[in-house]
Amino acid sequence: MRQFEYKRAEDARAAVAAHAGNDAAAYLAGGTTLIDLVKLDVMQPERLVDVNRLALDAIEPADNGGLRIGATVRNTALAHDKRVRRDYRVLSEALLQGASRQLRNRATTAGNVMQRVRCSYFRDGISPCNKREPGTGCSAIEGRNREVFAVLGTSEHCIAVHPSDMCVAMAAIGATVRVEDAEGSREIDFADFHKLPGDTPHIEHELAGDELITHVTLDAPVADAGSTYIKLRDRSSYQFALASCAAIVSLDGDRIREARIALGGVGTKPWRCLDAEQALVGQPAVDETFEAAAAAAMRDATPYKHNAFKIPLARKAIVCALRDAAARAGNGA
Ligand SMILES: Cc1cc2nc3c(=O)[nH]c(=O)nc-3n(C[C@H](O)[C@H](O)[C@H](O)COP(=O)(O)OP(=O)(O)OC[C@H]3O[C@@H](n4cnc5c(N)ncnc54)[C@H](O)[C@@H]3O)c2cc1C
Repeated sequence: MRQFEYKRAEDARAAVAAHAGNDAAAYLAGGTTLIDLVKLDVMQPERLVDVNRLALDAIEPADNGGLRIGATVRNTALAHDKRVRRDYRVLSEALLQGASRQLRNRATTAGNVMQRVRCSYFRDGISPCNKREPGTGCSAIEGRNREVFAVLGTSEHCIAVHPSDMCVAMAAIGATVRVEDAEGSREIDFADFHKLPGDTPHIEHELAGDELITHVTLDAPVADAGSTYIKLRDRSSYQFALASCAAIVSLDGDRIREARIALGGVGTKPWRCLDAEQALVGQPAVDETFEAAAAAAMRDATPYKHNAFKIPLARKAIVCALRDAAARAGNGA
């Protein structure tokens, strides 16, 4: 049995202080990723700093016209918040399609942003895996690489998908992550927070040292937009995405004024499709337009032995999501 120290912090400063000076310390939020991985011996923290009592559980209006979400806001609370359901329907839908009700009741906003990959070779604790043990190789590239393996943003060192649904919606909305350590605080653009694997797949995000996530601030909602989250998976609940799409669309008459597209289940990070979005502006909101955008979004995809089906599947998710979001924009929904 591995020993670890447990410390419960009462405020952010105390949490950072309790984390400091130990490279093997980890913040403990809902525990739904962390405790799993400790039990599997994939993560071996020497010290757990419990952040559940920090006063970071509020959802408040932000100065930018968006919403400021505390790090410990539970996924269920965020999904059902009235302002989120009204102005960020895509986020509410993404959250409610993630995991199970019990898990969502426990899982936090920061923990979700920081969740680890579901790659079976990473999680088995013994297979060669550059993410778990840098330099050992990637078992998935020549192995079984169907469900939780990417076709966008992969490298010869790692092809694991970023598994979060919530983060896909946040990528489409646009957001900023606020982090704090003993030196002060800083803000990280959500688009830059998660890193591509490149040749350092063990470095997954921008967080450094003892930094604690305190908030995620959503950009102001797109005016008069409709939005939706489409998640395609092997089973309709309690399952990670094979391909998913968060779409936000606003219209001028029957033409597209603004569009946002982000993908899940196919990228090594929450995958924003800026080129496809640009191509939609000014075009009629019809299936031919959505299909062209979907083709553009998946143009650079690289399939592996068992996941080539994800490319047409993701295209379908994009078309369906754009169609639904445009219909909702037209209805003022
Ligand atoms: C069976 C199962 C099915 C699931 N299905 C889905 C799914 O379909 N879709 C989906 O999106 N997710 C799914 N998940 C993942 C789930 O959403 C995450 O486990 C959860 O969001 C993690 O949040 P948490 O609060 O429990 O984090 P924890 O497990 O407590 O922590 C996760 C990581 O975040 C770090 N951390 C936590 N708080 C902070 C902070 N404030 N600052 C810095 N670092 C922090 C921890 O140190 C740890 O490394 C599933 C999980 C399980 C177990």
